[in-house]
Amino acid sequence: RNGFKKETFILSVDVGTTSIRCHVYDKEAKIRGSCTTKVVLLYPEVGRVEMDPDALWKGFIDVVKGAVQDAGVQMRQIEALGISTQRGTFTTWDKKTGVPFHNFISWQDQRAADLVKSWNRSCTMKAIHGVMKVVYFLTRQKRSLAASLIVFSTQHVTFRLVWVLTHYKQVRQAVAEGNCVFGTIDTWLLFKLTKGHVHATDFSNASSTGIFDSYQMCWSGFLCSLVSLPLSIFPTVENTGHDFGSTDVSIFGVSIPIMSVMADQQAAMFGECCFDVGDVKITMGTGTFMDINTGSKPHTSVAGLYPLVGWKIGPEVVYLAEGNAADTGTAIKWAQELELFSDVQETSAMAYSVSDADGVCFVPSFSGLQAPLNDPKACASLMGLKPSTTKSHLVRAILESVAFRNKQLYETMLRETRIPVTRIRVDGGVSANDFVMQLTADLFGRKVARPQHHEMSCLGAAFVAGLGVGTQRLIHIQYVHYAVGVLNPKHLYLY
Ligand code: ADP
Repeated sequence: RNGFKKETFILSVDVGTTSIRCHVYDKEAKIRGSCTTKVVLLYPEVGRVEMDPDALWKGFIDVVKGAVQDAGVQMRQIEALGISTQRGTFTTWDKKTGVPFHNFISWQDQRAADLVKSWNRSCTMKAIHGVMKVVYFLTRQKRSLAASLIVFSTQHVTFRLVWVLTHYKQVRQAVAEGNCVFGTIDTWLLFKLTKGHVHATDFSNASSTGIFDSYQMCWSGFLCSLVSLPLSIFPTVENTGHDFGSTDVSIFGVSIPIMSVMADQQAAMFGECCFDVGDVKITMGTGTFMDINTGSKPHTSVAGLYPLVGWKIGPEVVYLAEGNAADTGTAIKWAQELELFSDVQETSAMAYSVSDADGVCFVPSFSGLQAPLNDPKACASLMGLKPSTTKSHLVRAILESVAFRNKQLYETMLRETRIPVTRIRVDGGVSANDFVMQLTADLFGRKVARPQHHEMSCLGAAFVAGLGVGTQRLIHIQYVHYAVGVLNPKHLYLY
């Protein structure tokens, strides 16, 4: 009545591989409340990694309610919701009942490794490779339908979905009856939040599945016919910043507009404000994901860098080229399970406590080796052990392996994109490790910057959701913060 309007907030959720995190952001991009819950991974067989869709949904609801409570605000003060999700993890469900046909099959799952390997070695792929290499090297022609088919990977949805259709009769039957829908985690959450009204995803998530043609900006009919996938099951692809609909009132008591849906690495890139061509971000969590902003053009790769849509906001599309290493946090976690240390925070000091790794070498490839080697079956190994090897040497070798993979990816990126790198920013749990970051900067011969707040995926999705409800200030303020030195000087790594 007196013109008094309650403060409003942006809510952002990041569904990662180890946890689901939710933050309530105010208009200055400051976190006012948070809540986290663990993601329970299921390992039904060796090489298989799954998640229960209902447990994930419950976890999502719990963190949203928990963060709003932690912030001491009311649900109706939430102006917009942004969602960032891990990529390439999918399920299929019945369109009418909303009941999933199977668990989420994680991006880490290796059930399709043999299929991937045989396809990559097939005559069909060799022919496509041959044509692509000629096109790439002779004409530098970058636009091609087949470009995203250069190297298949188990991390892409493609062959895990082929596996599902081959092994689950009820999925095949539902497809034939027109009742089967496919979704990555974002699509599943949108479906649940809108009580089945929305079956959609955004360009950043779609382009991360391996089934999307980033050049034509649509699901790849060519790929689907090549590997026999039904185009009818895929969701509508919308802009990253888009009004995806509102949450059903029965869920949070009020209806909250869902204003952004983003794939986690692309969201982290946005959160790090890597808006310019040549900006690089490295996220080191469960795995490492290195992305370079390639501007308005997708990048064609022969070494296994993947052309992705970073985001599409309004008419503007920003593309990224991405290289990744599947085992970063997992290698460190494995060392913890071996009781080489009790807390990951000890690892940096342990590595610094010895002058070198005593000749020990670790290959972090529990899930194969990705670009530029592209061998899904490469095995992890620990070499050069001696009677003098201590726990600290082993820890140092493992941390070094993470930095060496960074270097390998960085060199591949420089060689292939030929885009001058403007800045390098890092985030993710492992970026908290001083030893890894210092060695990475030393190997690159470049300054590497780490923001104080390392949950960039959440922040990126909040930025885009904020843009949708007219809070451009959110981004502006974050950007200025970088310019005036929000980065802790201690965390600037100099060669
Ligand atoms: P994700 O988003 O993939 O779930 P996070 O970005 O949360 O992953 O990172 C979690 C990983 O970071 C875990 O594997 C954890 O062991 C690792 N981690 C956290 N802090 C450190 C540290 N100081 N040194 C090394 N590893 C760390």
